[in-house]
Amino acid sequence: MIAIKKSLEKELQMFYSAVEQTADSVFITNKDGVIEYVNPAFEKMTGFSKEEALGNTPRIIKSGLQSREHYKKLWSTILDGKNFRTVVVNRRKDGKLFYADHTITPIKDNKGNVTHFVGIWKDITKQTQFEKRKEEFIATASHELKTPITVIKGYCQLLEKKLSQSKDKENLHFVTQISSQTDKVINLIRDFFDVSKIEAGKLVLSKQEFNLETLVKGIIENFKHSVGTHRIVLQGKVGRSLLGDPERIGQALINLLTNAIKYSPSGTKVLVNLTSKKQYALIKIEDFGIGISKPEQKKIFDRFYQANEGGREGFGLGLYITSEIVKKHGGKAWVESEKGKGSAFYITIPFQKS
Ligand code: ADP
Repeated sequence: MIAIKKSLEKELQMFYSAVEQTADSVFITNKDGVIEYVNPAFEKMTGFSKEEALGNTPRIIKSGLQSREHYKKLWSTILDGKNFRTVVVNRRKDGKLFYADHTITPIKDNKGNVTHFVGIWKDITKQTQFEKRKEEFIATASHELKTPITVIKGYCQLLEKKLSQSKDKENLHFVTQISSQTDKVINLIRDFFDVSKIEAGKLVLSKQEFNLETLVKGIIENFKHSVGTHRIVLQGKVGRSLLGDPERIGQALINLLTNAIKYSPSGTKVLVNLTSKKQYALIKIEDFGIGISKPEQKKIFDRFYQANEGGREGFGLGLYITSEIVKKHGGKAWVESEKGKGSAFYITIPFQKS
């Protein structure tokens, strides 16, 4: 008995030392949210001493920057006996803000009743600030580049018109090259701009009823005119109209078709298949190109990720933007692929009005 007590005491001492010495803030409250314990990291991170914190609630570090919904969700989750994890902005005693990766876990007695809550904050201020600055830079740079590049494109089009009228073939060829390279820059800037919109939660859809088949046919026609390297075949149909943003869905399809062409050899087929399921339209874009390995399939929808050791032009943004557009419509995007044999990208767009 004494031996068990001794080993329990030793274990308790070890846990206590671990919590006291960890770099993350740890605090324990009773079930009404009144603080009963804080570790030294809490004192350092918040600027409040143990004496000041005990008997108070975590409201002392409230920054006022969390929404009412945040607190509602927090309380309903932890009172339900579940963990709550999110990123919060807190205010130190000296008024400075800090970002924390925040977890609250309910502690239950042996009957399953919640008696306390333990909160852990990992300080992520530095990473968050860096991310914010990066996002701001991308947003500003793409915004500032938009006007000059549009002007360049405008003059290219003017010159193209003039030179084709004067039958100056050589100079027309030069301008056409400038024009097509400018298109690439315009697309890149648009992708960067879209990414910063997505990150800021500001990707807004302009929804309307539209015919998917007409949209897809138009896109394929454009591809046939501009890239003659692949045989694009449309199969199947969707017999009803969709509610969504045709421009954004078009952008998603163009991204998938561009990839299908980019990552498969000239002369091969690209199949576009439309199917009408009960609740959604299913679009499949299949190529017979280089394919994607299983481990890479999981990552290709991530921002800036390029499989097959990159190599081809692009920034690894197309699939990220595509999947965000699809998600925003309540649909899904995924890939099935075998290395060396080709890839099939699928997207679904639900029919129901949302
Ligand atoms: P990007 O094409 O600009 O690199 P994407 O986000 O469109 O960016 O695609 C991410 C990565 O997924 C690509 O770098 C490529 O390695 C891979 N990928 C996308 N589509 C295909 C495809 N149809 N076949 C093979 N690999 C593909």
